[in-house]
Amino acid sequence: MGEYAEMTLDGEFCEGCGVYMGDGNGYPQRCADCHDEITTAELEKEFEQK
Ligand SMILES: [Zn+2]
Repeated sequence: MGEYAEMTLDGEFCEGCGVYMGDGNGYPQRCADCHDEITTAELEKEFEQK
């Protein structure tokens, strides 16, 4: 698990769903699908606050 977590933190795997992203950039990143989910969730949160 430690090794996988390290690779996720390096950006080799999506930190949302764990899909392989290729060479890491040295920081955590998300695939397009997970990025869309986060954006939608954040938008819904903002709507709820207003
Ligand atoms: Zn993902």
